[in-house]
Amino acid sequence: MKKDTDAFNFINGRWCGRSGRGERFETRNPATGERLESFPQSTPRDVDDAVRAARKAFDFWRKVPTTRRGEILLKSMRLLEAKKEAFARDMTREMGKILAETRGDVQEAIDTAFYYAGEGRRLFGQTTTSELPDKFAMSIRAPVGVCALITPWNFPMAIPSWKIYPALLCGNTVVLKPATATPGAAVNFVEILEAAGVPPGVVNLVHGSGATLGKRLLRHPDVNLVSFTGSSAVGAGVGEACGRTFKKCSLELGGKNAQIVMDDADLDLALEGALWGAFGTTGQRCTATSRLILHEKIFGVFLERFVEGARSLKIGDGLDPAVQMGPLVSGRQLRNVQSYVRIGLRQDGAKLLTGGKVLKQGPCRRGFFHEPTVFLGQPHMRIAREEIFGPVAVVLKARSFDEALSILNGTDYGLSGSLYTRDVNRALRAVRDMQTGITYINAPTIGAEVHLPFGGVKHTGNGHREAGAAALDIFTEWKAVYVDYSGRLQRAQIDVPKS
Ligand code: NAD
Repeated sequence: MKKDTDAFNFINGRWCGRSGRGERFETRNPATGERLESFPQSTPRDVDDAVRAARKAFDFWRKVPTTRRGEILLKSMRLLEAKKEAFARDMTREMGKILAETRGDVQEAIDTAFYYAGEGRRLFGQTTTSELPDKFAMSIRAPVGVCALITPWNFPMAIPSWKIYPALLCGNTVVLKPATATPGAAVNFVEILEAAGVPPGVVNLVHGSGATLGKRLLRHPDVNLVSFTGSSAVGAGVGEACGRTFKKCSLELGGKNAQIVMDDADLDLALEGALWGAFGTTGQRCTATSRLILHEKIFGVFLERFVEGARSLKIGDGLDPAVQMGPLVSGRQLRNVQSYVRIGLRQDGAKLLTGGKVLKQGPCRRGFFHEPTVFLGQPHMRIAREEIFGPVAVVLKARSFDEALSILNGTDYGLSGSLYTRDVNRALRAVRDMQTGITYINAPTIGAEVHLPFGGVKHTGNGHREAGAAALDIFTEWKAVYVDYSGRLQRAQIDVPKS
């Protein structure tokens, strides 16, 4: 990341500070408390400048051949590959994920660039027939315009890349507003796009409060589309605001995902999957395995091994290659996890099987560390229904496959579900009956690949899907085109030739 200047906003192809004499905010390493960097708290005026630049650039960018746009994406992929290790280290320092995972985060951006660069020679529409003679009909994809992209901190390069790459490839221009916990990852990413040759104004970056800048972006008359990833609570307000101003809006929101382990499952495999799904990224994934639903026949034996596995995870600074689980991203997130531990114990009456405490010793003394925590619960409890977004798993017992599925489906969310079984009939029933956007068989609830659609049902979103070909439907409008070469007026549904 640039070190020589405090100019971290990127507007109209120029790195600049905030407008006027505004406030700044700092980032700190959540594992050590070390101060990292200071960023401008951008103002609504900066948002206006960024949107103006994006609007101006749109008229030019939308006419650049898609193949050329794809080539710029490909160049950015190569630049990202060269910086992968450095960016992964920056990211671990900024938000705490272990190095293996931050490498994966950058790799996801690389894979996404590769995928959409290829789309530069596809972006297919359809040609079809007409009901009238001497008439040609087709559908094409047209860009939407200026896109406001609002992103969370848990995948600080991957999620912006899921939005920026398809948006650019389709001919849109963007204003990115990343989470205040991870502005550095966004700066690293935008620097790559600049170096790859993205023209001025096509990508713009502002930093700061979601409430202030988000509000301005959501109300701005020149913003045509809002793509938001974050909590369901904030997302509901984003959807409402977009509805009022007729903006296209895609929402990727929270989850309360579950893994079912049936009595015929490969238990070693299911155990590995459950530990990774529940405690990977310190449980801070929208797809985290927050509930573990065990068939009664394997309940005792599996639970014992799961609790043992949770207790033996090595916790510490994610830069240490031996560490398996890093800190929470912030003191706020740590307090949120603690409040759910209290809800579990006092309000729900759940049984705490391991964990439950903040870690303050040894390598964890300066950071926001929490013990991997396992509760034995019941499906109606708050800890089994609400998103916790931390290293807390709630274990539930099921007497049958039907009951397990009904528990899995019994939340307001519908992002990811997993089933471990060797029974092909059950596997295919799960594929059909899980109320989730993503279903895994014999794999954990986390681990999406970039060429498949990503998103969920119920309170997890508003029906859109990111990644893969599905994201093209967010970032384009379908346009129907008719060319009548008959030389006469032909009225659809009226002048149709009779046989
Ligand atoms: P958050 O909702 O607090 O913030 C997300 C973004 O919205 C941030 O950039 C924030 O500054 C901004 N924001 C906050 N208030 C706003 C407002 N009033 N108007 C406009 N923007 C506003 O979420 P978070 O804590 O950053 O991330 C965690 C959440 O994100 C979890 O609920 C998680 O499940 C979800 N998430 C979902 C997906 C998915 O694809 N479904 C992926 C990752 C994370």
